[in-house]
Amino acid sequence: MKVTICGGGVIGASIAYFLSRRGVEVSVVERTGVANGASGKSGGFLALDWCDGSDLAPLARRSFELHGTLAESLGRDWGYRRVETLGVVASTRRDVSGYRKLPSPDWLADEAAVHGRLGTPASTAQIDPAAFTNAMMSAAIDGGATLIEGCVEGMAFSPGGNEVTGAIVDGATLWSDAVVIAMGPWSMLACQWLPLGPTHGLKGHSLVFDYAPSPESLFVELETDDGEISSPEINPRPDGTTYVCGLSGHDALPMDPADVVPEAGASEKLRRMTSHVSPELGASRVLTAQSCYRPVTADGLPQIGAVPGVAGAYVATGHSVWGMLNGPATGEAMAELITEGAAKTVNLAPFDPARLRL
Ligand SMILES: Cc1cc2nc3c(=O)[nH]c(=O)nc-3n(C[C@H](O)[C@H](O)[C@H](O)COP(=O)(O)OP(=O)(O)OC[C@H]3O[C@@H](n4cnc5c(N)ncnc54)[C@H](O)[C@@H]3O)c2cc1C
Repeated sequence: MKVTICGGGVIGASIAYFLSRRGVEVSVVERTGVANGASGKSGGFLALDWCDGSDLAPLARRSFELHGTLAESLGRDWGYRRVETLGVVASTRRDVSGYRKLPSPDWLADEAAVHGRLGTPASTAQIDPAAFTNAMMSAAIDGGATLIEGCVEGMAFSPGGNEVTGAIVDGATLWSDAVVIAMGPWSMLACQWLPLGPTHGLKGHSLVFDYAPSPESLFVELETDDGEISSPEINPRPDGTTYVCGLSGHDALPMDPADVVPEAGASEKLRRMTSHVSPELGASRVLTAQSCYRPVTADGLPQIGAVPGVAGAYVATGHSVWGMLNGPATGEAMAELITEGAAKTVNLAPFDPARLRL
Protein backbone atom coordinates (compact mmCIF):
# COMPACT_ATOMS: atom_id res chain seq x y z
CA MET A 1 0.00 0.00 0.00
CA LYS A 2 1.32 3.47 -0.97
CA VAL A 3 0.29 6.49 1.10
CA THR A 4 1.18 10.12 0.37
CA ILE A 5 1.09 12.53 3.32
CA CYS A 6 0.83 16.21 2.39
CA GLY A 7 2.64 18.31 5.02
CA GLY A 8 5.66 17.67 7.24
CA GLY A 9 4.47 19.17 10.52
CA VAL A 10 3.96 17.18 13.71
CA ILE A 11 0.73 15.67 12.37
CA GLY A 12 2.21 14.53 9.05
CA ALA A 13 5.37 13.22 10.73
CA SER A 14 3.39 11.32 13.38
CA ILE A 15 1.14 9.67 10.79
CA ALA A 16 4.22 8.77 8.71
CA TYR A 17 5.88 7.19 11.76
CA PHE A 18 2.91 5.02 12.71
CA LEU A 19 2.22 3.99 9.08
CA SER A 20 5.88 3.07 8.51
CA ARG A 21 5.72 0.78 11.55
CA ARG A 22 2.93 -1.09 9.79
CA GLY A 23 5.05 -1.66 6.67
CA VAL A 24 3.19 0.91 4.57
CA GLU A 25 5.12 2.64 1.75
CA VAL A 26 4.91 6.28 2.88
CA SER A 27 5.91 9.50 1.12
CA VAL A 28 5.73 12.81 2.98
CA VAL A 29 5.58 15.90 0.75
CA GLU A 30 6.74 19.08 2.51
CA ARG A 31 7.01 22.47 0.87
CA THR A 32 9.41 24.45 3.09
CA GLY A 33 11.10 21.98 5.45
CA VAL A 34 10.03 19.64 8.24
CA ALA A 35 8.66 21.56 11.27
CA ASN A 36 8.97 24.96 9.59
CA GLY A 37 5.38 25.82 10.56
CA ALA A 38 3.81 25.88 14.03
CA SER A 39 5.24 22.43 14.73
CA GLY A 40 8.70 23.97 15.03
CA LYS A 41 7.67 27.22 16.72
CA SER A 42 5.14 26.23 19.36
CA GLY A 43 5.46 25.92 23.10
CA GLY A 44 5.74 22.15 23.20
CA PHE A 45 3.76 22.06 26.44
CA LEU A 46 1.89 18.79 27.11
CA ALA A 47 -0.90 18.05 29.59
CA LEU A 48 -2.61 14.80 30.50
CA ASP A 49 -5.94 16.13 31.67
CA TRP A 50 -6.40 19.73 30.48
CA CYS A 51 -8.75 18.52 27.72
CA ASP A 52 -10.92 16.55 30.18
CA GLY A 53 -14.58 17.42 29.85
CA SER A 54 -14.27 17.94 26.08
CA ASP A 55 -14.35 15.57 23.10
CA LEU A 56 -10.56 15.84 22.97
CA ALA A 57 -10.04 14.08 26.32
CA PRO A 58 -9.44 10.48 25.08
CA LEU A 59 -7.14 11.70 22.28
CA ALA A 60 -5.15 13.89 24.69
CA ARG A 61 -4.84 11.22 27.38
CA ARG A 62 -3.67 8.59 24.86
CA SER A 63 -1.25 11.07 23.30
CA PHE A 64 0.24 12.13 26.66
CA GLU A 65 0.93 8.44 27.32
CA LEU A 66 2.45 7.98 23.84
CA HIS A 67 4.80 10.95 24.35
CA GLY A 68 6.24 9.14 27.37
CA THR A 69 6.66 5.79 25.61
CA LEU A 70 8.13 7.39 22.46
CA ALA A 71 10.68 9.29 24.57
CA GLU A 72 11.77 5.96 26.07
CA SER A 73 11.61 3.79 22.96
CA LEU A 74 12.94 5.90 20.06
CA GLY A 75 16.38 6.57 21.55
CA ARG A 76 16.45 10.21 20.41
CA ASP A 77 16.50 13.36 22.53
CA TRP A 78 13.87 16.05 21.98
CA GLY A 79 13.99 17.58 25.44
CA TYR A 80 11.10 15.54 26.83
CA ARG A 81 10.69 16.09 30.54
CA ARG A 82 7.94 16.06 33.13
CA VAL A 83 7.45 19.45 34.82
CA GLU A 84 5.60 21.39 37.47
CA THR A 85 3.24 23.95 35.96
CA LEU A 86 2.39 27.12 37.86
CA GLY A 87 -0.33 29.72 37.46
CA VAL A 88 1.05 33.26 37.86
CA VAL A 89 -0.60 36.65 38.07
CA ALA A 90 1.38 39.86 37.49
CA SER A 91 0.37 43.50 37.25
CA THR A 92 2.22 46.76 36.70
CA ARG A 93 -0.70 48.81 38.03
CA ARG A 94 -1.94 47.03 41.19
CA ASP A 95 -0.68 44.98 44.09
CA VAL A 96 -1.36 41.30 43.40
CA SER A 97 0.34 39.92 46.52
CA GLY A 98 -3.06 38.86 47.85
CA TYR A 99 -3.15 36.19 45.13
CA ARG A 100 0.11 34.61 46.34
CA LYS A 101 -0.55 31.03 47.44
CA LEU A 102 2.84 29.45 46.69
CA PRO A 103 6.44 30.70 46.72
CA SER A 104 7.60 32.23 43.39
CA PRO A 105 10.59 30.86 41.48
CA ASP A 106 13.44 33.29 42.25
CA TRP A 107 13.65 34.54 38.64
CA LEU A 108 10.16 36.09 38.73
CA ALA A 109 9.48 39.78 39.37
CA ASP A 110 8.57 40.82 42.91
CA GLU A 111 5.24 41.99 41.50
CA ALA A 112 4.40 38.49 40.20
CA ALA A 113 2.47 36.08 42.42
CA VAL A 114 2.07 32.31 42.03
CA HIS A 115 -1.62 31.66 42.63
CA GLY A 116 -1.64 27.90 42.12
CA ARG A 117 -0.14 24.68 40.82
CA LEU A 118 -1.80 23.88 37.48
CA GLY A 119 0.07 20.65 36.89
CA THR A 120 2.56 18.28 38.48
CA PRO A 121 5.17 16.05 36.84
CA ALA A 122 2.49 13.35 36.77
CA SER A 123 0.24 15.47 34.58
CA THR A 124 2.35 18.01 32.63
CA ALA A 125 5.45 17.76 30.43
CA GLN A 126 7.47 19.62 27.80
CA ILE A 127 9.14 18.84 24.50
CA ASP A 128 11.20 20.87 22.04
CA PRO A 129 8.61 20.84 19.23
CA ALA A 130 11.03 21.11 16.29
CA ALA A 131 13.27 18.37 17.68
CA PHE A 132 10.27 16.13 18.32
CA THR A 133 8.77 16.60 14.86
CA ASN A 134 12.14 15.98 13.20
CA ALA A 135 12.72 12.90 15.36
CA MET A 136 9.34 11.45 14.35
CA MET A 137 10.14 12.12 10.70
CA SER A 138 13.60 10.55 11.03
CA ALA A 139 12.11 7.50 12.74
CA ALA A 140 9.59 7.21 9.87
CA ILE A 141 12.44 7.44 7.34
CA ASP A 142 14.34 4.76 9.26
CA GLY A 143 11.19 2.67 8.87
CA GLY A 144 11.21 3.15 5.07
CA ALA A 145 9.32 6.44 4.56
CA THR A 146 10.49 8.97 1.96
CA LEU A 147 10.57 12.74 2.46
CA ILE A 148 9.95 14.72 -0.73
CA GLU A 149 10.61 18.46 -0.91
CA GLY A 150 7.79 19.78 -3.05
CA CYS A 151 4.52 21.68 -3.21
CA VAL A 152 1.22 19.78 -3.28
CA GLU A 153 -0.89 21.53 -5.93
CA GLY A 154 -3.91 19.24 -6.22
CA MET A 155 -5.25 15.69 -6.26
CA ALA A 156 -5.44 13.06 -9.02
CA PHE A 157 -8.76 11.23 -9.32
CA SER A 158 -10.18 8.05 -10.89
CA PRO A 159 -12.29 8.66 -14.04
CA GLY A 160 -15.53 8.86 -12.00
CA GLY A 161 -13.94 11.41 -9.64
CA ASN A 162 -14.95 9.53 -6.48
CA GLU A 163 -11.55 8.05 -5.72
CA VAL A 164 -8.19 9.72 -5.15
CA THR A 165 -5.34 8.08 -7.07
CA GLY A 166 -2.52 10.38 -6.05
CA ALA A 167 -1.34 13.91 -5.30
CA ILE A 168 -0.11 16.47 -7.83
CA VAL A 169 3.33 17.60 -6.64
CA ASP A 170 5.11 20.34 -8.60
CA GLY A 171 3.12 19.44 -11.71
CA ALA A 172 3.72 15.67 -11.56
CA THR A 173 1.42 12.97 -10.18
CA LEU A 174 2.59 10.99 -7.19
CA TRP A 175 0.43 7.88 -7.60
CA SER A 176 -0.88 6.56 -4.27
CA ASP A 177 -3.57 4.31 -2.82
CA ALA A 178 -4.33 6.95 -0.19
CA VAL A 179 -3.56 10.64 0.33
CA VAL A 180 -3.63 12.44 3.70
CA ILE A 181 -4.07 16.21 3.93
CA ALA A 182 -1.98 17.34 6.94
CA MET A 183 -0.91 20.81 5.85
CA GLY A 184 -1.94 22.59 9.06
CA PRO A 185 -3.61 25.93 8.22
CA TRP A 186 -2.67 25.45 4.56
CA SER A 187 -5.11 22.51 4.51
CA MET A 188 -7.52 25.31 3.53
CA LEU A 189 -6.12 24.88 -0.01
CA ALA A 190 -7.46 21.33 -0.09
CA CYS A 191 -11.04 22.67 0.05
CA GLN A 192 -10.55 23.41 -3.67
CA TRP A 193 -9.63 19.78 -4.35
CA LEU A 194 -11.83 17.79 -1.97
CA PRO A 195 -15.22 18.17 -0.23
CA LEU A 196 -13.70 19.45 3.01
CA GLY A 197 -14.74 22.08 5.53
CA PRO A 198 -12.30 24.94 6.08
CA THR A 199 -9.32 25.09 8.41
CA HIS A 200 -8.12 28.60 9.23
CA GLY A 201 -4.84 29.90 10.61
CA LEU A 202 -4.53 32.00 13.79
CA LYS A 203 -1.21 33.80 14.12
CA GLY A 204 0.97 33.84 17.23
CA HIS A 205 4.38 35.34 18.02
CA SER A 206 7.10 33.83 20.16
CA LEU A 207 10.63 34.49 21.41
CA VAL A 208 13.37 32.10 22.44
CA PHE A 209 15.69 33.58 25.08
CA ASP A 210 19.21 32.51 25.97
CA TYR A 211 18.25 32.00 29.61
CA ALA A 212 18.17 28.90 31.80
CA PRO A 213 15.99 29.29 34.90
CA SER A 214 14.38 26.59 37.06
CA PRO A 215 12.26 24.30 34.90
CA GLU A 216 8.63 25.14 35.80
CA SER A 217 6.20 25.96 32.96
CA LEU A 218 4.32 29.17 33.72
CA PHE A 219 0.86 30.28 32.56
CA VAL A 220 0.66 33.99 33.34
CA GLU A 221 -2.11 36.54 33.52
CA LEU A 222 -0.48 39.91 33.01
CA GLU A 223 -2.09 43.33 33.43
CA THR A 224 -0.13 46.36 32.21
CA ASP A 225 -0.47 50.11 32.91
CA ASP A 226 -2.67 50.64 29.84
CA GLY A 227 -5.17 48.13 31.26
CA GLU A 228 -4.37 45.48 28.67
CA ILE A 229 -4.62 41.89 29.91
CA SER A 230 -2.49 39.28 28.19
CA SER A 231 -1.61 35.65 28.82
CA PRO A 232 2.06 34.92 28.19
CA GLU A 233 3.20 31.31 28.48
CA ILE A 234 6.78 30.63 29.57
CA ASN A 235 8.53 27.33 28.98
CA PRO A 236 12.15 26.95 30.15
CA ARG A 237 13.82 24.17 28.16
CA PRO A 238 16.54 21.69 29.13
CA ASP A 239 18.89 23.10 26.43
CA GLY A 240 19.36 26.32 28.45
CA THR A 241 16.82 28.39 26.53
CA THR A 242 13.41 29.74 27.49
CA TYR A 243 10.46 29.93 25.09
CA VAL A 244 7.79 32.64 25.52
CA CYS A 245 4.56 33.04 23.53
CA GLY A 246 1.21 34.73 24.12
CA LEU A 247 0.95 37.57 21.62
CA SER A 248 -1.45 37.09 18.70
CA GLY A 249 -0.99 38.50 15.21
CA HIS A 250 -3.49 39.83 12.70
CA ASP A 251 -1.92 39.19 9.28
CA ALA A 252 -3.80 36.83 6.98
CA LEU A 253 -2.14 33.50 6.27
CA PRO A 254 0.33 33.85 3.37
CA MET A 255 -0.05 31.16 0.72
CA ASP A 256 3.63 30.23 0.92
CA PRO A 257 4.63 28.98 4.41
CA ALA A 258 8.10 30.49 3.83
CA ASP A 259 6.52 33.98 3.92
CA VAL A 260 5.42 33.81 7.58
CA VAL A 261 7.22 36.59 9.50
CA PRO A 262 6.65 38.43 12.81
CA GLU A 263 4.60 41.65 12.56
CA ALA A 264 6.22 45.07 13.10
CA GLY A 265 6.76 45.74 16.81
CA ALA A 266 5.44 42.36 17.97
CA SER A 267 8.75 40.91 19.17
CA GLU A 268 9.52 44.09 21.12
CA LYS A 269 6.07 44.02 22.74
CA LEU A 270 6.44 40.36 23.71
CA ARG A 271 9.86 41.14 25.23
CA ARG A 272 8.28 43.97 27.27
CA MET A 273 5.53 41.63 28.46
CA THR A 274 8.19 39.11 29.47
CA SER A 275 10.14 41.75 31.41
CA HIS A 276 7.09 42.54 33.54
CA VAL A 277 6.96 38.89 34.62
CA SER A 278 10.72 38.34 34.89
CA PRO A 279 13.10 41.29 34.41
CA GLU A 280 16.09 38.91 34.15
CA LEU A 281 14.48 36.83 31.43
CA GLY A 282 13.27 39.89 29.54
CA ALA A 283 16.78 41.41 29.58
CA SER A 284 18.50 38.29 28.27
CA ARG A 285 19.57 37.73 24.65
CA VAL A 286 16.84 36.82 22.17
CA LEU A 287 18.01 33.86 20.09
CA THR A 288 14.91 33.63 17.90
CA ALA A 289 12.00 35.98 17.19
CA GLN A 290 9.35 34.14 15.19
CA SER A 291 5.69 33.68 14.35
CA CYS A 292 3.47 30.87 13.12
CA TYR A 293 -0.18 29.95 12.52
CA ARG A 294 -2.09 27.32 14.44
CA PRO A 295 -4.75 25.48 12.46
CA VAL A 296 -8.33 25.94 13.70
CA THR A 297 -11.76 24.74 12.56
CA ALA A 298 -15.16 26.37 13.04
CA ASP A 299 -16.04 24.31 16.13
CA GLY A 300 -12.56 24.22 17.66
CA LEU A 301 -12.11 20.46 17.22
CA PRO A 302 -9.66 18.94 14.73
CA GLN A 303 -10.88 17.15 11.63
CA ILE A 304 -9.38 13.67 11.63
CA GLY A 305 -10.66 10.91 9.35
CA ALA A 306 -11.79 9.94 5.87
CA VAL A 307 -12.90 12.67 3.47
CA PRO A 308 -16.62 12.07 2.87
CA GLY A 309 -17.51 10.59 -0.53
CA VAL A 310 -13.96 10.29 -1.89
CA ALA A 311 -12.28 6.89 -1.43
CA GLY A 312 -8.59 7.05 -0.53
CA ALA A 313 -8.73 10.64 0.72
CA TYR A 314 -8.05 11.47 4.38
CA VAL A 315 -7.49 14.59 6.45
CA ALA A 316 -5.84 15.30 9.84
CA THR A 317 -5.65 18.94 10.80
CA GLY A 318 -7.20 21.71 12.92
CA HIS A 319 -5.48 20.73 16.19
CA SER A 320 -5.35 24.36 17.35
CA VAL A 321 -3.44 24.85 20.63
CA TRP A 322 -2.95 21.12 21.23
CA GLY A 323 -1.26 19.84 18.06
CA MET A 324 2.04 18.99 19.73
CA LEU A 325 0.24 17.12 22.48
CA ASN A 326 -2.19 15.32 20.19
CA GLY A 327 0.16 14.54 17.29
CA PRO A 328 1.18 11.02 18.37
CA ALA A 329 -2.35 9.72 19.09
CA THR A 330 -3.56 11.29 15.84
CA GLY A 331 -0.78 9.49 13.97
CA GLU A 332 -1.56 6.19 15.64
CA ALA A 333 -5.31 6.44 15.00
CA MET A 334 -4.84 7.53 11.37
CA ALA A 335 -2.51 4.58 10.74
CA GLU A 336 -5.19 2.23 12.10
CA LEU A 337 -7.90 3.90 10.02
CA ILE A 338 -5.92 3.77 6.77
CA THR A 339 -4.65 0.19 7.13
CA GLU A 340 -7.57 -1.48 8.95
CA GLY A 341 -10.55 0.69 8.02
CA ALA A 342 -11.21 1.94 11.57
CA ALA A 343 -9.31 3.57 14.43
CA LYS A 344 -9.10 1.37 17.52
CA THR A 345 -7.09 3.25 20.13
CA VAL A 346 -9.21 6.42 19.99
CA ASN A 347 -12.79 6.99 18.80
CA LEU A 348 -12.50 9.45 15.91
CA ALA A 349 -16.27 10.05 15.59
CA PRO A 350 -16.18 13.55 17.23
CA PHE A 351 -13.56 14.61 14.67
CA ASP A 352 -15.42 13.33 11.57
CA PRO A 353 -14.56 15.75 8.73
CA ALA A 354 -18.14 15.43 7.38
CA ARG A 355 -19.46 17.66 10.19
CA LEU A 356 -17.60 20.70 8.81
CA ARG A 357 -18.73 20.55 5.17
CA LEU A 358 -20.46 23.76 4.17
C1 LIG B 1 2.36 30.26 19.42
C2 LIG B 1 1.88 28.83 19.46
C3 LIG B 1 2.16 28.04 20.58
C4 LIG B 1 1.70 26.71 20.64
N1 LIG B 1 1.98 25.96 21.75
C5 LIG B 1 1.55 24.66 21.79
C6 LIG B 1 1.84 23.85 22.94
O1 LIG B 1 2.49 24.31 23.90
N2 LIG B 1 1.38 22.57 22.96
C7 LIG B 1 0.65 22.03 21.94
O2 LIG B 1 0.25 20.87 22.03
N3 LIG B 1 0.41 22.77 20.81
C8 LIG B 1 0.83 24.06 20.74
N4 LIG B 1 0.54 24.83 19.64
C9 LIG B 1 -0.25 24.23 18.53
C10 LIG B 1 0.62 23.37 17.60
O3 LIG B 1 1.84 24.04 17.32
C11 LIG B 1 -0.13 23.11 16.28
O4 LIG B 1 -1.42 22.59 16.56
C12 LIG B 1 0.61 22.08 15.43
O5 LIG B 1 1.96 22.45 15.25
C13 LIG B 1 -0.06 21.91 14.07
O6 LIG B 1 0.69 20.94 13.36
P1 LIG B 1 0.36 20.60 11.86
O7 LIG B 1 1.27 19.49 11.46
O8 LIG B 1 -1.12 20.39 11.71
O9 LIG B 1 0.65 21.95 11.05
P2 LIG B 1 2.02 22.69 10.66
O10 LIG B 1 3.03 22.60 11.73
O11 LIG B 1 1.61 24.04 10.18
O12 LIG B 1 2.56 21.85 9.43
C14 LIG B 1 1.97 21.94 8.16
C15 LIG B 1 3.08 21.75 7.13
O13 LIG B 1 2.49 21.71 5.82
C16 LIG B 1 3.40 22.32 4.93
N5 LIG B 1 2.69 22.75 3.72
C17 LIG B 1 1.82 23.78 3.57
N6 LIG B 1 1.37 23.86 2.32
C18 LIG B 1 1.95 22.83 1.65
C19 LIG B 1 1.86 22.36 0.31
N7 LIG B 1 1.06 22.96 -0.58
N8 LIG B 1 2.60 21.28 -0.07
C20 LIG B 1 3.43 20.65 0.85
N9 LIG B 1 3.52 21.06 2.13
C21 LIG B 1 2.80 22.12 2.53
C22 LIG B 1 3.95 23.50 5.72
O14 LIG B 1 5.18 23.92 5.18
C23 LIG B 1 4.07 22.91 7.12
O15 LIG B 1 5.38 22.41 7.38
C24 LIG B 1 0.97 26.16 19.56
C25 LIG B 1 0.71 26.94 18.43
C26 LIG B 1 1.16 28.27 18.37
C27 LIG B 1 0.86 29.07 17.14
